[in-house]
Amino acid sequence: MSDLSSDLELFNELVEVLISEEENNPVADRIEANELYKTIDLSLNNNPMVDDEFKNTLKDVLVSTPKTATNLFFNQLFGGRQSKAILGDLLSVMLNNSMYTYKVAGPQVGIEQEIIRKSCDLVGYGSESNGTFPTGGSMSNYMALVMARDKKDPDCKNLGMTKRLIAYSSAESHYSNAKNASFAGIGRSNVRYIQADSRGRMMVDKLEEQIQVDLAEGLVPMYVNATAGTTVLGAFDPIEEIADITEKYGIWLHVDGAYCGGVIFSDKYRHLIKGVERSDSFSYNAHKMLGTPLTCSIILVRDKKNLGASFSNEASYLYQTDGDDFNLGKTSFQCGRRNDALKFWTLWKSFGTSGLEKIIDQQFELADVARDYVNSNSDYTVYSYEDSVSICFNYKNIDPIDLCTALYEHQITVVGFGSFHDEVFIRLVTINANNQTDDILNFFKVMEEFAETSTLLKGMLVNQA
Ligand SMILES: *Cc1c(COP(=O)(O)O)cnc(C)c1O
Repeated sequence: MSDLSSDLELFNELVEVLISEEENNPVADRIEANELYKTIDLSLNNNPMVDDEFKNTLKDVLVSTPKTATNLFFNQLFGGRQSKAILGDLLSVMLNNSMYTYKVAGPQVGIEQEIIRKSCDLVGYGSESNGTFPTGGSMSNYMALVMARDKKDPDCKNLGMTKRLIAYSSAESHYSNAKNASFAGIGRSNVRYIQADSRGRMMVDKLEEQIQVDLAEGLVPMYVNATAGTTVLGAFDPIEEIADITEKYGIWLHVDGAYCGGVIFSDKYRHLIKGVERSDSFSYNAHKMLGTPLTCSIILVRDKKNLGASFSNEASYLYQTDGDDFNLGKTSFQCGRRNDALKFWTLWKSFGTSGLEKIIDQQFELADVARDYVNSNSDYTVYSYEDSVSICFNYKNIDPIDLCTALYEHQITVVGFGSFHDEVFIRLVTINANNQTDDILNFFKVMEEFAETSTLLKGMLVNQA
């Protein structure tokens, strides 16, 4: 048997192990971080490790790696597993193309472009739009910022910064905005964090006030980042009202839909990003709401000229055949680029757009289940609002940080905490569309049982009013 066949056989065997582990033990056997190197043999040595020993080591790694696809994982803005997307991703590993040229990627170029074209249609961008697949939502935001910078100050590409450019983002927006401003030469202190209202949405009057202050000081407002699904509360900034401002002042509007931009697929929830067609760029992570394996991030640009203006470069050693429309390296950040499109295409092709809509709607329905549960139970204090797939709450007077940590350390369920204004709370994310109502109710059941019965929790009660 060839190496490949026997390794694929081993792969299947290991996947069986993983799946049965997930069923029997949905939260992984946790290894204390400071015990890690003592517990599993991760060492790389001069001598090869062979067959059974190799297999057993891999099994050890598998069973103790956090399980993100089970019905007790709620910690992150991704979770679950879409098998049709896994099929595509496994094929892309086998094919091992790089997405920069038609010469090496062939039809994969068309697959990527079809996803971009259909996504642009759903957003409502016109025929001049295009996009690319960056490494993630942070990189999408970075590419948007660089395009905004270059559009406002085209000399900047050759001469470096000549103007004091200012970026705006809500106080609740993703942390990549700060880092990106530093990478793009804009500077972290030239990002203005605009206050969010009580529901976590950017306050548009504050945005305009700040723009006017900056203009009066001779600074150059250049970029507004609006968020469709803030990382903690899952709130949607009012895009239509923000677009009124950005159009008035000639500022680039980027909509960061990394978390909840997937609502473009849903007739029921698309209204949450009303006005998105007026933005200059929009990004979403298919590895979040759509459930593809990490990473699968897409940035769309209303006018593709901006993408080429900021990211193309001649390279005769690379671009040797076919036109720019087929050589996607002309509009990407990277040179060699992983094929993140095929896994999304296999999912979309096999489900249809209507199937993707069901995935999105299911997440909101599960969120309603969770919200109804906490709203109708006086043991809970609720901090999030409707139309969000992040349900933020506290249980009794239990400190949320202690509770999340204890649930994780005792392998009960994996959930995180967040904060908004001065409150800290548990954040349950209903992003795993394979979950059903019972899985959500089960989360509350196991959490409550743990809180009631665990003596370890004594002393972690706070605010005993
Ligand atoms: C997750 C997230 C990002 C970052 O995306 P990555 O793919 O993790 O880099 C950016 N913005 C928002 C709102 C997010 O939720």
